[in-house]
This record gives sequence, C-alpha cells and structure tokens, in this order.
Amino acid sequence: MSTGAAATRGGPARAAASGGALERARKVLLHEQRMGCLDRAVVGGLEHFFLQLSAGEPAERPAGAWLRAAARRLAAYARRPAHERQAIIAQLLERLSRLEVAAPAGTASASVATPASGPVATATTRPAAVPPLAQRPAVAAKADERHPALSPMAPVTALPGVGPKAAAALEKLEIHSLRDLLYHLPRRHVDRRSISRIADLIPGQLATIVASVWQVQTKRSPIQRRLITEAILQDESGFCHAVWFNQPYLVRTLSRPGKVLFSGKVEAGYGGSLQLVSPEFEFDSDELLHTGRLVPFYPKREGVSDKQLRAWMRQALAATATQLQDPVPPAVLNAEALPPLHEALTQAHFPDDHAARQLAFRRLAFDEFLLIQLGVLRRRREWQETQPGVALQVGPALIEEFTAHLPFELTRAQRRVVGEVLADMARPVPMMRLLQGEVGSGKTVVAAMACLVAARNGYQAAMMAPTEVLAQQHHRTLTQLLAPLGLRIELVVGSQKKKEKAEVWEASRLGAVDVLVGTHALIQEEGEFAQLGLVIVDEQHRFGVRQRSALRGKGYNPHMLVMTATPIPRTLALSIYGDLDLSVIDELPPGRRQIKTFAIAPEYRHQAYDFLRKQVRAGRQGFIICPLIEDSERIEARSAKLEYERLQRQFPDLRLGLLHGKMAPREKESVMAAFRDGLIDVLVSTAVVEVGIDVPNATVMLIEGADRFGLAQLHQFRGRVGRGEHQSYCLLLSDAEAAGANPRLRAVVENHDGFALAEEDLKLRGPGEFFGTRQSGLPDLKVAKLSDVAVLEAARRQAERLLREDPWLRRPEHAALAAQVEQFWQQAPPA
Ligand code: ADP
Ligand code: MG
Repeated sequence: MSTGAAATRGGPARAAASGGALERARKVLLHEQRMGCLDRAVVGGLEHFFLQLSAGEPAERPAGAWLRAAARRLAAYARRPAHERQAIIAQLLERLSRLEVAAPAGTASASVATPASGPVATATTRPAAVPPLAQRPAVAAKADERHPALSPMAPVTALPGVGPKAAAALEKLEIHSLRDLLYHLPRRHVDRRSISRIADLIPGQLATIVASVWQVQTKRSPIQRRLITEAILQDESGFCHAVWFNQPYLVRTLSRPGKVLFSGKVEAGYGGSLQLVSPEFEFDSDELLHTGRLVPFYPKREGVSDKQLRAWMRQALAATATQLQDPVPPAVLNAEALPPLHEALTQAHFPDDHAARQLAFRRLAFDEFLLIQLGVLRRRREWQETQPGVALQVGPALIEEFTAHLPFELTRAQRRVVGEVLADMARPVPMMRLLQGEVGSGKTVVAAMACLVAARNGYQAAMMAPTEVLAQQHHRTLTQLLAPLGLRIELVVGSQKKKEKAEVWEASRLGAVDVLVGTHALIQEEGEFAQLGLVIVDEQHRFGVRQRSALRGKGYNPHMLVMTATPIPRTLALSIYGDLDLSVIDELPPGRRQIKTFAIAPEYRHQAYDFLRKQVRAGRQGFIICPLIEDSERIEARSAKLEYERLQRQFPDLRLGLLHGKMAPREKESVMAAFRDGLIDVLVSTAVVEVGIDVPNATVMLIEGADRFGLAQLHQFRGRVGRGEHQSYCLLLSDAEAAGANPRLRAVVENHDGFALAEEDLKLRGPGEFFGTRQSGLPDLKVAKLSDVAVLEAARRQAERLLREDPWLRRPEHAALAAQVEQFWQQAPPA
C-alpha cells in the first residue's frame, strides 16, 4: 500500500490565522491532557465542546474542517478506555501543531478555502516521489483538513495513494470516480473497538491489543521455505508474539517507534506462548482505520485489499467533504430524521457505532427508493398530464350484451374490477392500472370487456403476452368471447410467416383489426395501428417498464391495463408499479375446489406415479414438471428429453407429450393443442408452462425436484390444475430426504393464498430471487432491500411531497435531484 505524504510538511511559517477557535481547542486539549484524560477539562465533555466549537466555524475553512474532524475523532470519548483517550488527545495535539505549521503555505488549505475552484489537478499536488513508508507520517498526512478538496467526479487517480495499477484494479469494480469509490460500500464491519490486555488473550479469539514492538525480525522457515516475520509485542500486562508470512518489509514498518494497535486471531504458539497470526496493525498516533474501531470489510475482489480501500475511502471522504453535493433537500432529511449525504457515507465506511452505521445505510437506501419513486411518479404524471387521453364511453347495454354471451356469471370481484377499469377508461386521462389476481381468478374476461369498450368506441386494443403459447391462448379466448359480438381479433408472434404477419399489420394499420394479440413481436416490429386506444400487458413481471412504454408509444396516449397473476408483495408493488392504480380480483370463480397438495418423500415416488395413472384412467389429464434450470437451452432440451424417455418407460400405457423451451413455437403450439384436445394424457414439461395455460380437464400437477423452485413459482404451477369441475391435486416430489420437513414445501402444502406465499418467498429468498430487478425493469439497487417497507414508504411519502411542491423538479434547489433521477433511470435494464 502506498499512501500520500503531506506535500506541505515542514513549511516554515506559523499560522497566524485560524486563530481563536483553534487556539481555544489547543488550550482545552492541553488542559485535558494535564488533567489525566478523564474528560474533565470542560463542562459537558470534550466531544460536546468540540461539536459546539466547530459549529461556529464554516466547514469549508481549514479551522472549521479541522474542528469537525476533531469532533468526529472525539466521538464517544467519555466511554473509551483510558489509553485510547490518551492516544486521541496526544494525536489531536500533534495534528493541531502540524496544521498550524502547514496552513499558510499549503496548497491543500488554499484549495480547501476556495471550494468553488473545482477539482484540483493531481499533478500539482501529488508529490513527485513517494517516500518510503517508514519515514512517512502515514495516515495522518492525509488528514481531512490538509487534503486538497476534490470534486466527487474527479478520477480515483486524483487521490495520492492511487496509481495506475490500483486504478486498473478499481476499474474492474466499475469504480472510476471518487463518487464511485465512496459508493463502494463495506460488506460488513468488524468490531475492533474493545482492546484486550495481552495477559487476557485466549487462543481462538479475535482480539485487538495496543502494544509496543519489542523486537521484529524475518527468518526463513526450514520446511516450507516461507519468509516468517516475527515480532515480540509488549503491553503493561505482558508479552506475546505476532507472525506474518512472506511480508519481510514489515520489519521496517514496525521499526518505527510508538504504540501500535494489532487486530487478529490469537493462537497458541511454541512453548505455550500466544501469538497473533497475520494481524492487521496501525500506529496509535495515526487515524485509526484498521483497528480500534468498527473496521470496514469490502466485497472480496482481486487486486484491491481491504486495507487499501480503507485508506482510499478515508482520503476520498476527506477530499470530497466540502464538494459532495447532497441532492436531497434538508427539509426532506429533517422530516425523516436522516443524516446529510457526506456524513452518511462517512459513517457507512467508518461508523462511530452500530447505530450510526445503521442510520447511514438507511439514508443511502432511502436515496435509491426516492429516485425510484420520483421516477415512477413523474412518469405517471407525464403520461397522464402532458397529453389528454381518449374518453371511451360505455352504456349499460354494452355490459349486458357482453355478459349475456358469457357461459358463466361474473364473480363479485370481477364485476367490481370491471367497474374500476371502465370508469378509468371513461375519463379523458389515460388509465394506468394494475390488475392483480390469483391464477384462475378470471382476469382474461376483464381484459375482454375492456377490449370491447375500446372497439365500440372506434379504437383498437393491443394485448401483449410473454410467450407464444400464452399469446395463442389469449387469441383463442378473446376470439371466443368477442368474435360473436362482431370484433376481429388477430395474432402476431415471432414464428409467423413474414407474409402472414405483414397482412395482419396491414389490417391493423387500416383499422380493420379490433384486437391485436401478440408477444414482443408487437413492439419489436414496425407495425402500426390506425387508432390504438387500449394497451393490455399480461403477466407483467416478465416485461420491463420500457416495454410497457414502447407498446404504449404505438398509440396516442392509450389507456393501459397491466395484468399479473404473481401476487406481488406490497413493497414490490409500490416500487415497481408505483405509477399504477391497483385493482385486485380477490375471489375465485365459484365451484372451485381447493387443490389438495402433498409433499412426497422420494421413497413414495411410485405411489405418486400410480395416483397419476389412476386419474388418467378415470379420464383426467396431468402435468409432470421437471426442474431443468440450466442456463443453456441445449442442455435443457437434452435433459428434458432424457427425463421424457425415463417417464415413457415408467408409463408405457399412457400417452405422453413433451414441452420444453428449445422447441420451435409451432411445435409447442401443436403439443399444447394436442394436450388441450385430450390427445395427450400427461404433459411432461420444463418450467415453460409456468405461464398461464388453461386446460380444465387436467387434475394432477406432479412436480419433480419441487425443492428447487420458489414458493410463488410452485403456486403458479399448482394453478395450472383445478380449472375445471374435478377435484385436483398437486404432488410435490423432491429428491432431498424428508420432503415433508422442508419448510418451503410445507408452506405450499398448507397455504393456498398466493399473496401469503409471495410474502413468505420474499422473506425466505429475498427479492433478487423472487424476481430479479432485471426482470422488473428497475435499475439495480445497491443498498436498498425491497423488503424494507419502512424506508420505501418514507421515500414514497417524500417523493409525493416533493412533487406536490415542484411537480417537474424544476426549482434550482431540486436541480441536482432531478439530474440524479435521470441518471438513475438510465441504468434501468434496456427493453
Ligand atoms: P387468469 O386470471 O389466471 O388469467 P383466466 O382468465 O384464464 O384466469 O380464467 C381461468 C378460467 O376460469 C377460465 O377457464 C375462465 O373461462 C374461467 N372463468 C373466468 N371467470 C369465471 C367465472 N366468473 N365463473 C366461472 N368460470 C370463470
Ligand atoms: Mg391469465
């Protein structure tokens, strides 16, 4: 590790300025030292005194910056052990004297004093040659008040410690600017605050001691031929050893006089003596970064050590102290009791205590949520307010006409939701509504009703589904429901012939098509609509925000209905669909029987197979899902085929069909059709059938390797059966012993409420698994966890407030925030 030296050390002049406050500080520190460092020098304590004193000095002046740094160093002063207090006071006094020596001549303080001058060129401030480690005043040299102020956008190489090699390593972590560096947050902190006496050390313990180095030397181990550096350490209670391997230069480093803090693992050495193995250490006179505090550890990466990162972080924090703009207005922070940005970053890396760390991370998570919320709320406003929508009127007669054609009565929930949707469409503001409903709750009928309204008003509707199988199914269903009412429904999917597609698009362009159902082909192709008035997106979580926008862009401010069968926990709904109104179908059509669900241990697999066979003999059909989750479709296809062959030997008497992701859409469709028409008894499938196919005669869902799927996914599979009049069954097989004891499978057995399972899933696996942010169309979250409802709600609250006051974030005080929202959303995954 190489750290910068003070460019200005040894300047001859003595500070005349910075006078009063610093002079008082010095007197108090001296007094405290004379009184034995018992925190008796001033009423109210030293920490409080320094906070007060620093508040009176502008932070951008050297005196102000120094006093603030001193106040931080004095955090929890009264509660620290005696030797720490002594060390701190000695250190502050020493630094104070150095500051006064350096101040007038130093380029550092000059640039600190004029923060408006922008980033300082590296070349002028970086010493030409880095002096050997042992001679340098080490970390103290880059103390806050003496380091040149740098813009957060300055490259990392602007830091004295970061050379080309380090920069290249950081580059690999996508760290280019100081800002990037500061946002490279520790994975964890290790508590090295409590100092042990050598006499109290116990083998196996992770300990921190303060000791003098009695002797240090390097020798070669005879057997492994490693270089072993060994030191004898002493404190007032006794002696111990420390060893390091293949770091002979440590001899020199440790030859410097002074007390040293060592943190490391205690082991029993030769002859009963104790030793610390490869401990981290730093001199007590330095600012503590690696020992004696809550010490940050970063995600492990090659080429960059924790030690280096800590030192760079400290430098970067110091350099940007006056330059880092907090985009979040103080009023917002006050309302949520959150710290300013620079303080949050400081505490996130070098926390004073656990509470400060937590608060810092909370602040950083809040920022991410705030940017999300501002983004989605602004999009909603843009869509709804910049251009009028078309008001699509319906009379009761139309609803009559539609329901008269249905083979069933709408459920109460369906009627309510149809009411909500039609009310939205009747307004001259484009609808933005999310329709949530369990698998099988009957969302398609609601969509069909909306399509009919659009058509009768002379507008077209487009419905986008994530897979061809599903698009085809929707096309069929909508044709059944709407063709008798005189509507023309067409389909566009990738596998169609060019000519066929061209004809459909031509009809669409001329307005001859009323409802166009399709996959991504709907947005990927050049096709046009004559008058697109309604956009429906099914199984939304497979599409990103951008795809929604793209489809929407094919019309002139069409109404939009997003449908999802995945029960989405409230937090996710708020963040991902924060721009949508919510309708929920919370009732299944009548006569549905609960699907009997069993978790089955491997030794009973044959009973499960027999059960499936019996159901087929009774005229029913079934699914077998294989957990083939390989990334490569080729492997998936092969193992699906192998499994299929195994099952064919298992069920020589049954007609089996196979469905997997590698099949051509046409093939898939013909297998699906055969299954629907009863020509196949058992459909063996990979997870592709997860998404909404509807075969009422299917009563058995047998899932192999069930423990490998998520709860929400298992629930989705289960929803493929129980769609008709017959009692249906879901059999969860797993290779792991004791399937019944698996808490995740138990949850599916016992729980039939998709929302509850989704919440459970979110808890068990975290949102990344639940569904990746990639799929959700959200930018990546670095700090925020989607499960953190309280912070998310705070962000929602503040975003609404901000936009109420300044709808387009155009006020100058919101400029930085507006720019960040922009930048943040640019990182969202592309369509
Ligand atoms: P999903 O919400 O999963 O998309 P679907 O719209 O595919 O559900 O409906 C599932 C099945 O329930 C379909 O076969 C549909 O015809 C039927 N269905 C929908 N609404 C009702 C109802 N009110 N009464 C009886 N059956 C219904
Ligand atoms: Mg559906």
